[in-house]
Amino acid sequence: MSDIEIETTLTDIKLFIESLKSDMPEVFAKDKVKEDIAGKVLYMGDIYDAAINITPEEEPSVKFEDGKFIVKIKSEQDDAGALVETWLWNQAETVLKERTKIWAEKMGVEVNNVAIKDQRTMWGSASEKKNINYSYRIIKMPNVIINYLVIHEVAHLVHMNHADEYWSLVAVHCPEYNEHRKWLNGNRAYIMADTKLKYVKPQEKPVEAETDAEQPVDRESAQDRVSVEGANLQEESNEQI
Ligand SMILES: [Zn+2]
Repeated sequence: MSDIEIETTLTDIKLFIESLKSDMPEVFAKDKVKEDIAGKVLYMGDIYDAAINITPEEEPSVKFEDGKFIVKIKSEQDDAGALVETWLWNQAETVLKERTKIWAEKMGVEVNNVAIKDQRTMWGSASEKKNINYSYRIIKMPNVIINYLVIHEVAHLVHMNHADEYWSLVAVHCPEYNEHRKWLNGNRAYIMADTKLKYVKPQEKPVEAETDAEQPVDRESAQDRVSVEGANLQEESNEQI
């Protein structure tokens, strides 16, 4: 892409963004990905807090409840982030298989098999045997981008290339695909990064009274979170005006 093209595009993007802010707040949520994500979980375009609990008697687990990840590990040495990545992989499998089915029906295309992988060089691929592979990391992206990538791969089952006729087909189902491609280029590093979570010992009280000691800490952080989110929301709505 030449410099001139980039400049033109940037002006276009600004105008486009202004219209999106009012029309499609969902698309706008995707900017959140650029926040600092260390110690948090990136999931479907949003950034969530994670509470890590050490429960030596229980099997390690991940739960997503009330907008927060609850990770249980057996000891401090366990990798809570890796556990979350596995959870994300399973989510990706469910969501991407479902979406592919929906879009394949809409687009009148038959899909043979959908597989989830950790492909580092591409988000997805389609084969002549009508198989589609996706990177599980797609599940970290906002909904609209996930849909675009699914449409992208399903459309390849009609045109096995990136020729004009291919993009015309994509545009029928996803008119703003060019914006999504730009978003993908700009956010690649965030999406490719593994979730990094570190267990932090409850500071004031010793470990003995598990539930009683931990609850106040959780409540406090929950309050902090609410106020931070509230502040963000206000900023966002100000921007929209
Ligand atoms: Zn392609």
